[in-house]
Amino acid sequence: MNSQPASISPAAGHEPGLSLSYGYGTDRGLRRELNEDSFIASDPVFAVADGMGGHEAGEIASGMCVRALAAMPQVATGERNVTAAVLQQYLVRADSSIRQATGARAGTTLAGAVVVEQMGMPYWLVMNIGDSRTYLLSQGELVQVSVDHSEVQELVDAGEIRPEEAAVHPRRHVVTRALGTGDETEADYWLLPVQEGDRILVCSDGLNAELTDEHMFRILSTVLDPQEAVDALIQAALRNGGRDNVTVIVVDARNVMNDGGIATTAPRTAADAEEETTLPRAQVADVHRSSSDSSSDDEESGEPGDGSR
Ligand code: MG
Repeated sequence: MNSQPASISPAAGHEPGLSLSYGYGTDRGLRRELNEDSFIASDPVFAVADGMGGHEAGEIASGMCVRALAAMPQVATGERNVTAAVLQQYLVRADSSIRQATGARAGTTLAGAVVVEQMGMPYWLVMNIGDSRTYLLSQGELVQVSVDHSEVQELVDAGEIRPEEAAVHPRRHVVTRALGTGDETEADYWLLPVQEGDRILVCSDGLNAELTDEHMFRILSTVLDPQEAVDALIQAALRNGGRDNVTVIVVDARNVMNDGGIATTAPRTAADAEEETTLPRAQVADVHRSSSDSSSDDEESGEPGDGSR
């Protein structure tokens, strides 16, 4: 059922230290008959899929996408050794399953973050395809990490419209990449060091279409409990119209280990942060293109009526 996370098993199998607390929720909204969003919130995988396509096909597409991610062994073990290359393999599998099940008439977005460790340091491995979003609230600042694959984003990039105009543009719902439909199915990836106190927000466009970044920032920076923050965000989206399905995940990182292997309890200094700059997208993309990792998991079921795993 897409109103539930694919799994909420507690994390296990990774080093003590970094601790994640998170909340999640989804709402059909006030105008739509169905909720075609799906999500998974299970350490180390946090992702939202927004299905598109009529006659419940969108729900099938988004559900298949999150079930494909839920099939990763790391969701059961809590291990933080996922790579972009491995993620991409699961997304390719989800793409073909959705095409088989729906005849490429339905598709889904996917956005989210997977917590990974490299050389003992934790990172947010952010992934995106389509126009669901991942934001990071860090050091008192909210930034949108993912870049939409949408017609209006292309217009913004080309300097033809301003970002404020994108929010009200008539073609704002047209995505240029998706899983299960169209020719463009590759996700973008970003790798960001986890810093003490980081808060990740993953959402479907039913949230960010109703709330300004400033409104989201206000809620995220004042409501400390992650589940209460999720609930407040969803309620705010409904109050502002609730024109679409709205799905929200909030993840908080605490007890982040620093370079000396000591858990920090205070925000890092700017100097610390500078040494761990974000990898440019191209560099991350190279990582997953050059890797030939293969996974040995079972094939995701291609049946549209398949129940939860
Ligand atoms: Mg939507």
